[in-house]
Amino acid sequence: MSLTAQQWLEKIRALPISTPLKIMNICGGHERSITAAGIRGALPPQIELIPGPGCPVCICPEEDIYAAIQLALRDKVILVAFGDMLRVPINVSKTEARSLEQAKALGGDIRPIASPMEALHIAQQNREKPVVFFAAGFETTMAPVAALLAQGIPDNLYILLSGRLTYPAVAMLLETKQAVFHALVAPGHVATIMGAQEWAFIVTQHQLPCAIAGFTPESLLAAFYSTLRQYSSHHYFLDNCYPQLVTPTGNQTAQRYLIETMDIVDANWRGIGIIPHSGFALKDSQHDARLHFPNYANESRLRAGQMPAGCDCASVVLGKIYPNQCRLYGTACAPRHPIGPCMVSDEGACRIWWSGGVRQ
Ligand code: SF4
Repeated sequence: MSLTAQQWLEKIRALPISTPLKIMNICGGHERSITAAGIRGALPPQIELIPGPGCPVCICPEEDIYAAIQLALRDKVILVAFGDMLRVPINVSKTEARSLEQAKALGGDIRPIASPMEALHIAQQNREKPVVFFAAGFETTMAPVAALLAQGIPDNLYILLSGRLTYPAVAMLLETKQAVFHALVAPGHVATIMGAQEWAFIVTQHQLPCAIAGFTPESLLAAFYSTLRQYSSHHYFLDNCYPQLVTPTGNQTAQRYLIETMDIVDANWRGIGIIPHSGFALKDSQHDARLHFPNYANESRLRAGQMPAGCDCASVVLGKIYPNQCRLYGTACAPRHPIGPCMVSDEGACRIWWSGGVRQ
């Protein structure tokens, strides 16, 4: 029997929990639903919901965005990227383009896309020109990129890959104790691809409650209830609260494509640094934009990991502070004039909170 959101709330309120508890979510989609439905305010006050590393645009390193800008301006490629990425600012001198949007205004052929198939179509329609697909995202984005590669892409299509895995960031948070939380609500879309079992380490290695949630308020509340009940009963397990789509082992075809086309490597997260085994790298050197075009890594090395002055995005992404605890939130930084990536992306916690009406 499925319960309504109100019924889940009543069950949560009936649990014997008196001490403050923090539950982390690591998905921009979850955070949007939580904020839009007002779930944070409806829960008992001792329960805190912390948005964690759930935005791939926010953690995309400056050096990758810089390389994408240079590919468009200096190498004159057609640069395609997911729309959110175009407005993300980086730290450069006043004479340089500080975002892909500015590079486009300076004459770069930069085109926003909504899916990897659009990159394929643009390459097929422009066979005389190199097309670079700046592919940034988590597992759910990498799976269709991997499928595209496995099925074969045109000679003029190159990939500037900036893919990341979500679970190593959570493992790093728990191992280094950078953020304190008592339970995790894991992302349903990632688990759909990679399988529920990927999140078992939260229970087995860190002895914390964990539940996988979908994106409706009911599914999220079911996951919150599950983790809180586990906590109050001292019986921890991995609970799949999104069984409509999530299975223990996930989508085998998508995983096969990922294994065939990509390696797992240590990777830089913007403002956070290198997280071991958290990035995807192309196996196919023929279509790797980093190998085919000039390598801008040396020029951009000094920027690696930097955030704009005063921007606390790294702390927001790691769940150390809430978005409205940043000094710039809603003053210098707002969606119309974003300072940091968390205010740009639809999956960024700052933008979600601002759009949801959260002010200082
Ligand atoms: Fe960065 Fe703006 Fe968020 Fe502050 S409010 S953390 S400057 S995106």
